Amino acid sequence: MTNKMIPVALLTFSLFLASFARPGEETNGPFKIGNFQVKPGETGSGYLAVPEKDGVGTRIPITVIHGLKKGKVLALVAGLHPFEYPPILALYRLKAAIDPKALTGTVLMIHIANLPGFQRRTIYYVPADWKNLNRVFPGDINGTLSQRIAAVINDQVVKRCDALLDMHCGDGNEALIPYTYWMLSGHEAFDEATRKMALAFGLPHIIIDDTRGKDLADSKYLGNTAILQGKPAITTEAGYLGRTDEESVSRNVKGVLSVMRSYGMVAGAPEPATDPVWIDKYEVVYSKWDGLFEPRLEMGYYVRSGQVVGSVTDYFGNLKEEVKAPFTGILLYIIHTPPCNAGEPLFEVGRVREK
Ligand SMILES: [Zn+2]
Repeated sequence: MTNKMIPVALLTFSLFLASFARPGEETNGPFKIGNFQVKPGETGSGYLAVPEKDGVGTRIPITVIHGLKKGKVLALVAGLHPFEYPPILALYRLKAAIDPKALTGTVLMIHIANLPGFQRRTIYYVPADWKNLNRVFPGDINGTLSQRIAAVINDQVVKRCDALLDMHCGDGNEALIPYTYWMLSGHEAFDEATRKMALAFGLPHIIIDDTRGKDLADSKYLGNTAILQGKPAITTEAGYLGRTDEESVSRNVKGVLSVMRSYGMVAGAPEPATDPVWIDKYEVVYSKWDGLFEPRLEMGYYVRSGQVVGSVTDYFGNLKEEVKAPFTGILLYIIHTPPCNAGEPLFEVGRVREK
């Protein structure tokens, strides 16, 4: 964030707080987005177009659930990583479950942000340019396909919303325990709002994350991009290894509904995490080699500093490295399929805050 940006972000945040002042007292007008609009009290779906360049374009399937009464616009984004299925499936359930006539405010869902990757069943990347969509925000409408998808999401969703949930899980190759990234902005009132979001989503581990860059032009992550524009946001991780297990899907559904309840968008009390494990430091350990990774431990195991977590072999089966934990903590995720490439993650360790 540049110094110039801070007042803008704070102004947006005060507008966000003001939007709480009289929830439900005013009626909504139509919600226009992309090339369609949704009337108050209705649910509508359509696509956001991502412009073509060199013959390559795509579109982003979205749904707007538009309440009769004015309230917060909550953006739910799934499928930045398209092999992360539980958040994607959870949004379809929520679409069916949320009655727009009983809703205060508006839910703006991106069903599958990286549709080309979903169609090709790729982990991490957009197949047209092999970039990680959650590393290219705020995007560039004249850039490669990943950058253009990010720019469309930033312009049409981030800028339109009052708060945002960037919903992830372990990718197709990642065994992962459920946790939330609570990204700090350095502004106390704002960070208190995002702390409440993180608690409301209800996952049992919360990472206190002060590592994200403050320059909007290089914000990289969707959640960080929203925060740098004054929009409270968290990144959630619930699900693993390309599975569609009921526990993971329903964790995502429950988390969203609990956040919506905390904002007064739907009836009922939120179910926040009451005593989460706070993680005050985390590190992703990357592979130095192309080859095969063999995990020695499982997701969620406690590891001590220097303990061997897994090993990398080359394509002939020769040991290249025993990869060790950088400090004592919890294995938040670990790669659980053989391929590993230099520069790609092997596992993430989180240090537990004592109190
Ligand atoms: Zn992800």
